[in-house]
Amino acid sequence: MCWAEPQSRREFSSIVVGGGPGGLGPLLWAAQHGLLESWLEQGVALVERTGRLGGTLGCYGINSDSLGGSYLECLEAKGWPAALQHLRRNPVTLEMRRYRTSYPPLPLVNQYMGCVGQAVADMFGGHSSSALHLHTTAQSVHLCDDGRVAVVVHGQDGRAKTLVARSAVVALGGRQHWRDEMAAPGLKFVDCAARQLLSSNEFLTHDGLARADEIIRDAAGRSIVIVGGAHSAYAAAWALLQLPAARSLKDGQIVILQRRPPRIFYPDRAAAVADDYPFEEGDICVRTQRVNRMGGIRGHGRDIWRQIAHKPNVPPESRVAVRAIQDFSAAQLRTVLEEAALVIPCLGYRSATMPIFDSAGQRLTLKADINGDAVDGDCRLLTADGRPLPNVFGIGLGSGFRPTQAMGCEPNFRGQANSLWMYQNDIGAVIYREIQVLADEKLTAAVAA
Ligand SMILES: Cc1cc2nc3c(=O)[nH]c(=O)nc-3n(C[C@H](O)[C@H](O)[C@H](O)COP(=O)(O)OP(=O)(O)OC[C@H]3O[C@@H](n4cnc5c(N)ncnc54)[C@H](O)[C@@H]3O)c2cc1C
Repeated sequence: MCWAEPQSRREFSSIVVGGGPGGLGPLLWAAQHGLLESWLEQGVALVERTGRLGGTLGCYGINSDSLGGSYLECLEAKGWPAALQHLRRNPVTLEMRRYRTSYPPLPLVNQYMGCVGQAVADMFGGHSSSALHLHTTAQSVHLCDDGRVAVVVHGQDGRAKTLVARSAVVALGGRQHWRDEMAAPGLKFVDCAARQLLSSNEFLTHDGLARADEIIRDAAGRSIVIVGGAHSAYAAAWALLQLPAARSLKDGQIVILQRRPPRIFYPDRAAAVADDYPFEEGDICVRTQRVNRMGGIRGHGRDIWRQIAHKPNVPPESRVAVRAIQDFSAAQLRTVLEEAALVIPCLGYRSATMPIFDSAGQRLTLKADINGDAVDGDCRLLTADGRPLPNVFGIGLGSGFRPTQAMGCEPNFRGQANSLWMYQNDIGAVIYREIQVLADEKLTAAVAA
């Protein structure tokens, strides 16, 4: 059985839900390898809730932690289709080129991704077997017993449509999950009577930064507490220090509470040694020899870490104090959080999900809804008991894909690969190939019949 109303149903080879950097990833991998035209010829449906492709990075008021060059690399690929070559001369691309070896502002990255998305959208127009559904929200995914998958969508006219395909890619972006996290044994953030709480995702937006500036102005010596010790925590510390009101902060008034010291990115061993940074063999990426290539903090978060840690050739930063969270009892921690002027939980992302039903109509519980990593090594979405769904894939912020060492990852890496470059390269490649295997199975079955 397949849940679909026949009168409003259209068939494709694959359906991509979400037109951000994650959803665009497999399409841009295919474009770089000269395979996008043929994939669109097979039939791709791309469903995006807003009126544009490109994603949500524009809402953040900070700089990228990837070099500008990493976003431009795809344009130079050998197989890059003629229909997308105009992007090389696009004014936004030219602006991005100024940041080839530095960190572009995220709103500019977002503008650039919007141009890339628009060019991909235009390509859909040339392939009648494919369809782009903007202003369309995907509501649910239904596994069919004939091995296909149906996605129910609602367009601007409010009418439901069912798209059917051999495979679907779910790329809805991330969500934060700090409310129910334990700040300390017996103490959930949500139960903490902190004066002001802004999750890192809220804080790093343009509105969040303006709000934090007001809070600091009225802080009168009370602390600003950042909880977490990874990318978002150090990006938040850097962003706080750029606010006009931060000039009045006293020594140690910003406190980073972390479980363990962050890992820091270095381009090679020599750079880490020169910085007196302790690393072990397992921190070295086997493919590139970079230190903490996947898990290391980069960009302005890394800059501020170096200042806090009094590293060479940077002015020391004394307004930020770093403390180990386990040095506090639950009662002490409650006091610290409740007396702070502002608490910023920076506890990472999980992938956003949507209801997925099996062929008997039962809603499946997904691993992403329970405790984290949404996908397996083939990017297949996992159910709560760890079973991969045969033809539904996940990509994007919080999806928890673990890169292999062959992809260029340090053996000690345990985190998530949340990187546009990875979506357009290794992760996009995994999904494209798996989708093609499924499409070939369908073809073989049709020939046999
Ligand atoms: C503050 C911050 C800074 C980051 N900086 C970098 C960086 O410098 N470099 C880097 O490589 N990565 C960075 N990342 C990580 C990651 O690459 C980005 O978050 C990226 O935007 C993730 O892309 P995405 O497609 O998963 O999510 P999004 O960009 O959020 O895109 C998801 C898309 O899905 C759509 N959508 C959602 N639900 C539905 C639905 N039901 N139906 C249809 N469409 C839907 C949304 O409208 C949106 O367009 C950063 C992340 C954060 C949070």
